[in-house]
Parts: sequence; C-alpha cells; structure tokens
Amino acid sequence: MKSKFIFGVIISVILIVGNQLVIQRALNMKKQDSRLINLAGRQRMLSQKIALEFHKISINTSPGLVLKKYLFEWKIAHEKVLMDSVEINKSLSYLPKTSTGNNWIQDLSTKIKFIENEINSYKKTNTINLEAVDQNQDGFLLKMDSIVDHLVAYSDKKLTNIIILEIILACLSILVIFLEVRYIYYPQAQQLKNSLDVIQLKNKELEQFNYIASHDLKEPLRTVSNYVQIIKEDYSEKLNDDVNRHLNTIDKATERMSVLIKSLLDYSKLGKDRKPVLIDCNVLVNDVIADLFKLIETNKAQITINHLPILLAYETELRQVFQNLISNAIKFKKKDSVPEIKIGYINNKTTHEFYVSDNGIGIEPKHFDRIFHMFQRLNKSQDFEGHGIGLANCKKIIEIHGGELWVESEFGKGSTFKFTIQKSL
Ligand code: ADP
Repeated sequence: MKSKFIFGVIISVILIVGNQLVIQRALNMKKQDSRLINLAGRQRMLSQKIALEFHKISINTSPGLVLKKYLFEWKIAHEKVLMDSVEINKSLSYLPKTSTGNNWIQDLSTKIKFIENEINSYKKTNTINLEAVDQNQDGFLLKMDSIVDHLVAYSDKKLTNIIILEIILACLSILVIFLEVRYIYYPQAQQLKNSLDVIQLKNKELEQFNYIASHDLKEPLRTVSNYVQIIKEDYSEKLNDDVNRHLNTIDKATERMSVLIKSLLDYSKLGKDRKPVLIDCNVLVNDVIADLFKLIETNKAQITINHLPILLAYETELRQVFQNLISNAIKFKKKDSVPEIKIGYINNKTTHEFYVSDNGIGIEPKHFDRIFHMFQRLNKSQDFEGHGIGLANCKKIIEIHGGELWVESEFGKGSTFKFTIQKSL
C-alpha cells in the first residue's frame, strides 16, 4: 500500500512538472513571436519614412541627415532580427527558399544594402535610380509582411499543438487523481474504518463481558459471605481458635473481592446513559471537600482552590475525578508532614485544563503510565490503603469528556495530576 502511495505521488509530481514545462514553453514562444512582429512593424514604419525621403530628393533636395538617420535605425532593427536569428530562423525554417537561394532574412539584408549603395552613389554622381529604390522598398515591405503572416500562422499552429498537449496532460492528471483516490486512498480509508469498527465492537464486547462477569460473580460471593457469617454466628463457640481465624480471613477476602467486583461494575457503567450538564466547578469542588471533611481534618490537609470555570460535563463522573485526585493527594502524603494541595485551572483554546498538585511521596517517572491501569498500585496495602481502581476510573471518565489525564511528578517531592475537558463537548 505504501509503495502504491509513493508511486501515485511520483506520477502526480511528474504531471505537475510536465504541465508547468508546457506552459513555460508556450509563454516563451509567444514572447519570441511578438518580439519579431514588433520589429517587423518598426521596419515597416522606417522603410516608409525612407521612401518619403527619397521622393524629396526627386524634388531636388540632397539626401540629408534625416535619411541617414532612418537608414541607420533601419539597419539596427534588422541587426536585432539577425541577433535573434537562431530562434527566429527556427520559426522561419519552414518558409520556402527565396528565388536567390538565400533565406528570407538575408534577402532583406540585400535590399537594405542596395538602398544604402544608392545613397552613397548619389553623393558621388548626383544621380539616383529612384525606380530601383522604389522596387527594393516595396519588395522589402512585401517580404516583411509575408514573413509576419507566415509567422502568425506558424505561431498559431504551434500554440494549437500546445493547447492540445495541455488538454491531454489535464485529462491525464484527472485520471491519475481518480485512480489514486479509487485504488489508494479509498481502500486505505475503508481499511481504517473497518479497523475502527472492529475496535469499537471489541470494546463493547469487553465492556459487556466485564458487566456480565462482575454481575454474575456477585451472587455466589454473597452466598459465601452469608454462610461465613452464619458459621461465625452459630458455631464460633464450638470451633477452635484456628478455624475462627481462618473464617475471619475468608470474611475479609470476600469483603475485598466484593469491593473489587463493585468497582468493575461501576467502571463498565461509567458515562452510560448520561447527558452533560452545565456545572459550576467551584461549587462541585467545595462539595467534594465537604464530603472529604473527615479525611482532611484527620490529616490536617491545607487545600487552596483557584477560581474554577462553569462548564459542560458529566456531573457525577467529574465529581468522582476530583474526589479521587484530592483523596489521593491527601492519602499519599509524606510521613509526619502536612499535605498541601493546590487545585487550579488553565483556560486553553479548545480545552479546560485542571490540575491537582500535592507535596506528597511523589511517583517515579517509570510508573507514570502504569498507575492509570486497573488494579495497579505502587505501594504496600499496609502503608497506604486502596484497590488501584481510582485512577483507572478517572482516566475513563476524562476520555468520555474527550480529554486527557496525566501526571507530572518528582519522586519524594510531590505530584501534579492534570486533566483536560473538551470545550466542544
Ligand atoms: P489507590 O489509590 O486505590 O491505590 P489509584 O488508582 O487511585 O488507586 O492510584 C494508583 C496508584 O497510583 C496508587 O496506589 C499510588 O501508588 C499512585 N498514586 C496515585 N495518586 C498519587 C499521589 N497523589 N501521589 C503519589 N502516588 C499516587
């Protein structure tokens, strides 16, 4: 698929460059032709002026400076034509040879030379062959006109060819674009869509499995727990201490398992059948702090809250995020230190960004990803209570809000948990 894509790009680039070259060539040709046509016009004008001057001579005036000046300009214009002759001769090469066997430009030179000679001979002999001058003059003009006519016709023909070439190139470009879309981009988009559909289906299946498994596990667990209670209540006096201790261990384990199953069930229900509502985050965070009053008081935690926004979000879920982050910030405090917690907000262009920072035990960078996975804990249960579920829940909730959750931390110095919520929720 990748090689097809590269091939498609190369063909497109070749077509674009080819098109540019053809356009450039057409412009160059036009420039060259119009240059010669301009020169021809100038030659025409000069030669008429020269003719007029010669007729003045016939009324008995000597060939003066004006005539010499026109003749001089006439020759300069002709030399310009000759200077361009490589290109111009290419354009004129299809013209038939003149009767003298010269090419057309040389033939014009001969006629100019003749008139120059006439002027020079007039100086010596005081006579002039006006008829011959006239003929040369007319011959020159006729030749010039026919060169221009031929040139215009030739230029038109060349341009028509170029236009046809351009049309062919444009059709080829359209065809290549069509083929690229049909055989490269469309299959890629289709493949991507199929993969997305499969992922979505697998996700749904997983959630369903999670829901059913945790739901069905609850019943047998409750039965075990009930029977342990019955045995403890009715038979504890008849059983020896060892059996009673074992029963207590079973009881605690079932209790723990029950919490885990409930968490799994809650996780699968997150964000389901809910609608985002407008929430004043200042009120919401203060409510959370009121709920955590006991924990805050026991640990003498100091909490600073900056001004928070009013935004659209899933209320119960967002409350859960703040509750988890704030309670973790208190729970994972350093021994014999007072937890200092800051809650704040950054107004980004497309997202609302929140942070909860603490001065607690901190997290090593290698664990930054791991802590957001289900049942992942970095510390022993004896040191810090917990089940490793809170951050996984937070992650899922933030994803439902189209945002991201991440941690920045220095081990032993404290952590800052940051999350974003899409403004366009
Ligand atoms: P729990 O708090 O129940 O252990 P969480 O999912 O909330 O589960 O957190 C996962 C792990 O991430 C914790 O066990 C702890 O190791 C680490 N952690 C979370 N918050 C903090 C914090 N503020 N400071 C240091 N470590 C933290």
